[in-house]
Amino acid sequence: MWPFSVPYPEKSLEDISGRGYDYIIVGAGTAGCAVASSLSQDLDVTVLVIEKGPVQDSWAARVPLLSCDIAESLTTIHRFSKPEGHCADRTMRYVSSESVGGNSRINGMLYTRGTPNIYDQWARMGHPNWNWDSVSPYFNMIEDRRPRTVNLPRTKPRGVQVRRDHHPCQAYDIFPSVISELGIPVADGSEAETTSLPAYYSKFTYTIDDRGRRHSSLQSFLPRKVAIERQAHCTICTNVLVSRLDVDGQRRSVTGVYVMPASPLRRNSAHSSLCTNAETLIRARREVILCAGAIGSPQILQLSGLGPAALLNRHGIVVRRDIPGVGAGLADHQAVPVCIELPWNMTLHYLEKNIFFAIWQLLLYLVWGAGWLKSATTRSAIWLKSAHLDPETSMPGSRVSDAAAESHEENWHQEEIPDVEVMLVAANGALETWPGKPLFTLYTCLLRPESRGTVEILSTDPRKSPSLQLNFLSNPSDLAVARKSLRFSLRLAEGMIQAWGRQRARLFLAPNASTGRSWRDVGDDEVDTFVRENIKPMYHLTSSCRMAGEADGGVVDDELRVYGFANLRIADASVFPTIPAAHTMAPTLASKIRHTTFLATTVPFCAMNRNFFRSFRTQVTPLPHPTGDFTSKTIVVTGSNVGLGLEAARHFVRLNASKVILACRNIEKGEQAKSDIEASEARSGIVEVWEVDLGSFASVQSFCRRANGLERLDVVVENAALQTATHQLYEGYERSVTVHIISTYLIALLLLPAMRRTASKHYNPKQEAAPHLVIVGSNAHFYAPLHERDKPSILDALRGDSHMIYRYYDTKLISVMLMQELAARMESGEQPRVICNMPEPGFCQSELTREKMFPLHVRAVLNIALKVLARTSEQGSRTYIAAACAGPESHGQYLEDCELSTPSDFVRSEEGLKLQKKVWGELITVLESIEPGISGNL
Ligand SMILES: Cc1cc2nc3c(=O)[nH]c(=O)nc-3n(C[C@H](O)[C@H](O)[C@H](O)COP(=O)(O)OP(=O)(O)OC[C@H]3O[C@@H](n4cnc5c(N)ncnc54)[C@H](O)[C@@H]3O)c2cc1C
Repeated sequence: MWPFSVPYPEKSLEDISGRGYDYIIVGAGTAGCAVASSLSQDLDVTVLVIEKGPVQDSWAARVPLLSCDIAESLTTIHRFSKPEGHCADRTMRYVSSESVGGNSRINGMLYTRGTPNIYDQWARMGHPNWNWDSVSPYFNMIEDRRPRTVNLPRTKPRGVQVRRDHHPCQAYDIFPSVISELGIPVADGSEAETTSLPAYYSKFTYTIDDRGRRHSSLQSFLPRKVAIERQAHCTICTNVLVSRLDVDGQRRSVTGVYVMPASPLRRNSAHSSLCTNAETLIRARREVILCAGAIGSPQILQLSGLGPAALLNRHGIVVRRDIPGVGAGLADHQAVPVCIELPWNMTLHYLEKNIFFAIWQLLLYLVWGAGWLKSATTRSAIWLKSAHLDPETSMPGSRVSDAAAESHEENWHQEEIPDVEVMLVAANGALETWPGKPLFTLYTCLLRPESRGTVEILSTDPRKSPSLQLNFLSNPSDLAVARKSLRFSLRLAEGMIQAWGRQRARLFLAPNASTGRSWRDVGDDEVDTFVRENIKPMYHLTSSCRMAGEADGGVVDDELRVYGFANLRIADASVFPTIPAAHTMAPTLASKIRHTTFLATTVPFCAMNRNFFRSFRTQVTPLPHPTGDFTSKTIVVTGSNVGLGLEAARHFVRLNASKVILACRNIEKGEQAKSDIEASEARSGIVEVWEVDLGSFASVQSFCRRANGLERLDVVVENAALQTATHQLYEGYERSVTVHIISTYLIALLLLPAMRRTASKHYNPKQEAAPHLVIVGSNAHFYAPLHERDKPSILDALRGDSHMIYRYYDTKLISVMLMQELAARMESGEQPRVICNMPEPGFCQSELTREKMFPLHVRAVLNIALKVLARTSEQGSRTYIAAACAGPESHGQYLEDCELSTPSDFVRSEEGLKLQKKVWGELITVLESIEPGISGNL
């Protein structure tokens, strides 16, 4: 409790200077807090969040209505656009919050997901991973709609608390009757998201918590308790500005960010060296993620030499990559206010007018958590599809007018996305021109504007705001939609005035306000002039670094990576392919959390990831010595003349197996291995050497035919592997693909009938024991980039010689997915049980030395690491025996250190699962071409 509570752990420039972090997040705004919270769940990574503004989390800053008074917020900054040619040369004022939490600290708290069609439209634009089905789970993930009674640990972020609220201001009470009189249906909650109605009225949900306080991104994702608990690996550095990125053009990567104090400091102030205005470099080991918003992110890119070449040349900035789309495509929703004058006590301005009323409301809020202060400025809105507005009545009809459909973008009405929102606000929407008036405002908002603007740096000074040009109404279709929907609002305003009573309410700001004419008598020119003179921004800036093909002006790909840079992403509102037809906070949050799932997919090869550290720790932990009993069992181990295969075979012999078949390419070496085992275990007549070459399908088929003739087959350990960066084709496929994928699963499917026969003959189905198909995996799959994953056929794409350095990693990744799919399919029938699992042996002495795939200096380091860290082949082979003894719970599972474990995040991700199905389909096609009818073995 104050004053004894621990303050928020904000760090300064001095604290981070000279240090390196796995991830650097630039901007702790709405998206930045969410991304930081998600990444820092992993204790093994270090995350640095750099925010230009402070935390400054005062009590007043969380009182809903007070915190919407953006002009008064200490963190609000104001910018002005260039004069807007289509809007009577007016400049547009932009406000934003520079603080931890960003705009979610001052915004209207309206929480709207938008209709599924918004996201499906993105998918149709060429971003299949961003359709509704892919994005919607992330909404559920970030939202917390649980009541206060649910007790949760305060050190875990709960996500955004989203609530319905009843605004007590009496001006809103007329709406049910006005709406029903106009015949506009009411749709609420999820119904509103999915309705195909041409128009509907709905109440808002707000990011207000169960105690009646604003629930910004700061509270949702990085609240004080969480920040304190995670401070050892998640550093939140405030009042520091990222001036530019450290770009390594040659390696096409970003090595860190340059930072400076957010506001200029005097040279001779207390912290000597760092209190200059010089830039300091902070290194990023893995990724830099820009979350600086639709103005900040393009500004940083441009200052770093990534942007339109002409602009960069103009400012003398070295062009690192000419990306014309950086700063282009800026979009915002636009609103035309129509205002009605009401008695003071019917608008929110009564709080300013009447001090006693204000004190009463403060008391209500403090004591009962109720009253006006607990609410946002609006309660509800009407959502329209303007093509359905009847030109005669200005009311929504069921049919789309042909002219309207033609005048708007192709097929848009079929997409069923509202393009207009009439937001009803009991406050003055024309404060700049009419301050001190008690007005109620109907904002007619364009949700799908076509006009696009730009963000461009004005100088190389990172503290100087870039220029904004919105180009509102530059696309004639926007004016057409505004004209049509404004008429609807004028008609609605008339209905509202009637409902309130003409003695209390009068039209104050509208094209027909001074003349008193009906909305029917206002000409198009008058409406257009009114729109141009009054349209204003809604502060929903997006799309200044769009996700699109680079040739189409895109800046980031579908995984939010900046084109040309493997470890630079953008994860804020600037990446939306088009502005969502919804208030933009919720889409920003959900899609940014989705962004963190991509991070797992693209860890650079040499990056240290969580698994590396885990492996490092466990490398030095001894594995249990195998103690199973394989009496009377027949075992096959592929690739068993040396290394782990040989040691595994030795264990099986020691553990009483009756037959152990060394399946190897080189019979001579196999015979030597057999003698070695017989000598060490003093058992003869057990080991047999059979020839199989996984580089030849014919050899694999002939081996399997022979094995199918065995009286029983209890354990098959598929260990044969190779690690090479030299491109060579075996059977028309790159050899790692042939060996690790095609031949491995050819063996699995060809031997499955023999194993099932063994199961039905020698195993009791009521007991847990069963034959085991052990497919050896590798934690190398954690590091696999699999560049070919978007290709129509992955196995075909892998025939090529690009990215050979990753080939071992990529094929091991595919193998984990195939093992999971195989295990799932094995379960679907009524067949006798065979357990299929995948052990990972760790870093072992036999692994990396066979081919000289790395440069000399890397090999030298590896050799030292092998000596110091690597498990012996015998130790590694223990993991195989553990897998061969594991119970049914191991079916389809990945095992590390002789225990059940989990494969990489990517394998478990939605994208990974889709890819699993895809490669399985490809594999089966290939296997069928080798051995027709093989899929029937499943
Ligand atoms: C007044 C207002 C009202 C709004 N009302 C609503 C609403 O009711 N509902 C809704 O859904 N949406 C609303 N929005 C829009 C919504 O809040 C934004 O779309 C959303 O917050 C954008 O999130 P972001 O993460 O992209 O950017 P931001 O939240 O702006 O975060 C960017 C952060 O980056 C920091 N930053 C920028 N440059 C640098 C740099 N060089 N170095 C370090 N840090 C940097 C900034 O200080 C900021 O904290 C409103 C916006 C405003 C301004």
